[in-house]
Amino acid sequence: MEYPIIEKPPIHKMEPRPNLVDYESVRRNFQWEDVKKELDGLPGGGLNIAHEAIDRHTMTQRRGRVALYWEGKSGETETYTFAQLKEETDKFANVLTTLGIRKGDRVFIFMERVPELYIAFFGILKAGAVAGPLFSAFGPEPVRDRLKDSGASVLITQPELRRRISHMLPELPELKHIIVVNKKNRDLYPLQDNDLSYEELMASASPQFRIVHTTRDDPAIMHYTSGTTGKPKGALHIHGAVLGHYITGKWVLDMHDEDIYWCTADPGWVTGTSYGMSAPWTNGISQIIYEGMFRANAWYGMIQKYKVSVWYTAPTAIRMLMKAGEHLPKQYDLSSLRYICSVGEPLNPEAVMWGLKAIGLPIHDNWWQTETGCILIGNYPLMPIRPGSMGKPIPGVSPAILDDNYNVLPSGKEGQLAVKPGWPSMFVTYWKNASLYQSRFKNGWYITGDRANMDKDGYFWFVGRADDVIKTAGHLVGPFEVESVLIEHPAVAEAGVIGKPDPLAYEIVKAFVSLKDGYLQSEALRKEILQFARQRLQSIAPRELDFVPSLPKTRSGKIMRRLLKARELGLPEGDTSTLEDD
Ligand code: ATP
Ligand code: MG
Repeated sequence: MEYPIIEKPPIHKMEPRPNLVDYESVRRNFQWEDVKKELDGLPGGGLNIAHEAIDRHTMTQRRGRVALYWEGKSGETETYTFAQLKEETDKFANVLTTLGIRKGDRVFIFMERVPELYIAFFGILKAGAVAGPLFSAFGPEPVRDRLKDSGASVLITQPELRRRISHMLPELPELKHIIVVNKKNRDLYPLQDNDLSYEELMASASPQFRIVHTTRDDPAIMHYTSGTTGKPKGALHIHGAVLGHYITGKWVLDMHDEDIYWCTADPGWVTGTSYGMSAPWTNGISQIIYEGMFRANAWYGMIQKYKVSVWYTAPTAIRMLMKAGEHLPKQYDLSSLRYICSVGEPLNPEAVMWGLKAIGLPIHDNWWQTETGCILIGNYPLMPIRPGSMGKPIPGVSPAILDDNYNVLPSGKEGQLAVKPGWPSMFVTYWKNASLYQSRFKNGWYITGDRANMDKDGYFWFVGRADDVIKTAGHLVGPFEVESVLIEHPAVAEAGVIGKPDPLAYEIVKAFVSLKDGYLQSEALRKEILQFARQRLQSIAPRELDFVPSLPKTRSGKIMRRLLKARELGLPEGDTSTLEDD
């Protein structure tokens, strides 16, 4: 189906006035050093993300602004102003230095989304250490593997999660301290072994701390990738990344002083730190943190209650909202919303249109990776949206499409998505895997591992991950295109497409689909969906289709096509440490 271009209103009708007005001229004249001028730098020189996100606001009128509205999973609430966050993070930095933590040490966090997670994170940065947040739904093995790989010396966690990993601790000789946050004594928890109590440590910590001197090249954050295509890799980021977080928050997410912002990603994934911590707070705005899990009702309720104006979420969440029905958002007052963005997977054009229909706003797709540290390609408030396109490069980065020999292809040709290195939030290595890091650079380009094309107007279109692309009867087929057509069928909630080996065609396209509530699988429906796809896709349509109750996904909600394929072919499943529970 051809989707119409979504035009934007003229600038004088937009309230507030978008931060990025003239994309083309800003892009032409852009210098990263100009972004630096909008930040403060550490008193006396240097750069530290925590200073830019928190401390500098306490010297301005933003001091008393609520930085964090927290809604706990049982409905408890808390608020923290920038001034309060400064005090708490100063205290935590003191706690860490008293424990002997020094610049460059790895300090990991394994917590649910409670305010103490955010305090710990920025306290770690202030102490000059490297923060590694882990997703709270991880089982013991993924936690052990990451703590072992990173050589973390301190872990901050909560009673329930501490119990989950207790039996793994003997395998972690480098882990010297465990700090347990027992929020409001939610848990009747006697501290074990040498555990330290967060509450006790904080009670005696000084509320003043001088940030350890760091520069833009000093390591700050370590994130393991999502594990969609294989074993997760530890991407290391530096304090200089804050330039990218700040400016993309301003231009792509269009953050304004008066906004109430909500990023639904967990800090265990890079979106949850770059855009759930650094971008909103370096821009000095209020954000909400919701501890609970995804439920359509609860999510709409949060937007209504906190009057969320800017919302950053993911295709998997949007597909779940679509599944829950168009009637649901109408039962809430969502009039505060003015701008919605999405990242993490390709955003099906159907989902962009659903935003318009169900909420009255289009969804702005943007593209980036754990490795890139910040959004590199995006849709902007004033730029017309071409549904299905990831948008255009942010000022300051130059992506291109390369052929198999790493030469630039002209517009309209599909190939490898690559970016010229040199933007400040780019990862500096894969932890303990310098050779893999090096292998991502060819011919002066950073090779992203994704395939895409760029149209003549400079919009980028995602085709698929290089590993997932299907070769059938002489065509290269991106799963995204096929999946997007399948979910246009009214019965289909989600679709995952793989290449299945075939003696004649090399591979055939095979689809796995889950159905929306109210639809029952049947032979007739299978034929109908295949026929529906054939009419639209002709030679690249799926030849086989299986119904599945749900698709295998990473814990960050990405469809794991490699697992669909391994299961189909009876091959080993490989690394499943980030696989979501069924
Ligand atoms: P791993 O590298 O461990 O296999 P991963 O690549 O899923 O996992 P992330 O860094 O979380 O780990 O995800 C980045 C990838 O997600 C991108 O390379 C791309 O494949 C996909 N992605 C992110 N945003 C988009 C988008 N807007 N459109 C299409 N794909 C996207
Ligand atoms: Mg990746």
